[in-house]
Amino acid sequence: MQSKTVIIEEHGGPEALKIATRDVGEPAAGQVRIRHHAVGLNFIDCYQRSGLYPMQLPAALGMEAAGVIEAVGEGVTHLKVGDRAAYAANPPGSYCEARVMPAAQVCPLPDAISFEEGAAMMLKGLTTHYLFRRTVPIKSGDTVLFHAAAGGVGLIACQWAKSEGITLIGTAGSDKKCALAAEHGATHTINYNTEDFAERVKEITGGKGVDVVMDSVGASTFEGSLNCLRPLGMMISFGNASGAVPPFSLQTLAAKGSLQITRPTLFTHIADHATCQQMAAELFEKVTSGDVKIRIDQSFPLEDIAEAHRTLEARKTTGCTILTL
Ligand code: NDP
Repeated sequence: MQSKTVIIEEHGGPEALKIATRDVGEPAAGQVRIRHHAVGLNFIDCYQRSGLYPMQLPAALGMEAAGVIEAVGEGVTHLKVGDRAAYAANPPGSYCEARVMPAAQVCPLPDAISFEEGAAMMLKGLTTHYLFRRTVPIKSGDTVLFHAAAGGVGLIACQWAKSEGITLIGTAGSDKKCALAAEHGATHTINYNTEDFAERVKEITGGKGVDVVMDSVGASTFEGSLNCLRPLGMMISFGNASGAVPPFSLQTLAAKGSLQITRPTLFTHIADHATCQQMAAELFEKVTSGDVKIRIDQSFPLEDIAEAHRTLEARKTTGCTILTL
């Protein structure tokens, strides 16, 4: 059996993305073969394509999808042939029609969640889960500053925070995006292209600062983000949409009030099978209860993958983006 698969032979711009035809074999022990119905697009795919996160080449890309299980290897007990399923998983390779992959991070998908939603939400939703539940204790009444709040992870985070009584101050690059974040639950919004977000955060918090910053924008926001924290506050730096955070002196954290900092990645949190399945169950509950709606604002055929990357990197997207097959 063969599958259309997006690969890169060299790191580079969107033009480096090529469609190849690859053989898809039978699953070995601990693996499944899944036929995708939809695939999720994530900013991490751009880092891997460009080489910001170097990969062994040639490489397949994509880390999120949903579909139906076609074959199951020995020892896999949580999935059977015909099951609807979705995943966020490493190694990459989800930009394809079908693949064989480790079963551990593949989760049964509830009937109430469509393939499109499943494909759009696994990486972004599990990331939101670990940011709010597994990184630093955050409780109702706490205040979080969240950058790029109208993006894929962003709109899920806005709704997640609201459903848990957390005050979320969301930044975004236009007034329209700010309005979208507010519609999805951000308590306050700041257009960081026209306003000094650190000054505005001071005003909003009455000079106190926020308990936690969730910063996936990186280079252009890092320093301002540190200035938004209360003493002993936690900086979660989890992405680099504007470029990698430059090296900085640890002394800065002392000078700004004994700040804490962490640089997490989802794949540490979902490395353990049972933990991954539990996190997915809690995410599915957020969605099926109606607390979090998965908003898919862009959809591209798999063949238009280069255009999809261009659109995401040009900051022209809101919410989630999927690839259709
Ligand atoms: P988004 O849909 O949020 O897209 C990225 C957004 O970043 C843009 O829409 C844009 O919003 C903002 N941005 C700010 N500066 C730039 C810039 N110079 N170039 C491009 N975009 C910029 O993407 P995702 O939802 O896929 O991911 C959000 C972030 O979370 C990414 O940085 C990603 O790497 C990170 N992430 C990290 C994970 C982890 O475990 N560490 C896991 C999952 C995601 P605006 O126009 O409003 O500024």
